[in-house]
Amino acid sequence: MAGLPCTFIRLAGCPLQCVYCDTPQAIPLDSGENQDLTRLLEELHPVQTPVVLVTGGEPLAQKNCTQLLQALLPIYQHVQLETSGAYDISIVPDDVAVILDIKTPASGECARNRWQNMEILRPNTEIKFVLMDEGDYTWAKEIIQKYDLSRYTLLMSCVWQALDPQDLAAWIVRDQLAVRLQLQLHKYIWGAKATGV
Ligand code: SF4
Repeated sequence: MAGLPCTFIRLAGCPLQCVYCDTPQAIPLDSGENQDLTRLLEELHPVQTPVVLVTGGEPLAQKNCTQLLQALLPIYQHVQLETSGAYDISIVPDDVAVILDIKTPASGECARNRWQNMEILRPNTEIKFVLMDEGDYTWAKEIIQKYDLSRYTLLMSCVWQALDPQDLAAWIVRDQLAVRLQLQLHKYIWGAKATGV
């Protein structure tokens, strides 16, 4: 889906504290504001992007997240949910594509990975690793092998200004990994600090 116009819905609140978090403003549970679902859908309706991504914070920390996802399915061609995987993903509606952001050792939140989620992955699940260094890359390769994840779409991305995408590209080619190197396009287009884009 990289490059396709996408509507972002960011749900506030996250129980994790990744060292590289680029949305610290969305971590406190009281950082957002309550939204009425009907009104939110009315606001979204004129926004005709092919993709909508529900993200956070940690979206599954919000008890009405699945209700929101269900409501988005008739409106958008593709509905995606990006989650840290610290919560049970079996509650996500089948037609929603889960992007499971597995926390690496250098994130500081590796212990929060809910490994039971590996047993309930669906064909439309994408597995993502956000990498800080070569140690994270090596660890991610081991996780891919351990859980036989090459059956799924695999994404690797670099923590902004911590890992050079050129290094990651070289490792991927060297190791002949069938993974997609994902760049945070919005940061290249609008700058690292831009919000609301
Ligand atoms: S899971 Fe996401 S929102 Fe939560 S601390 Fe980590 S990077 Fe930030």
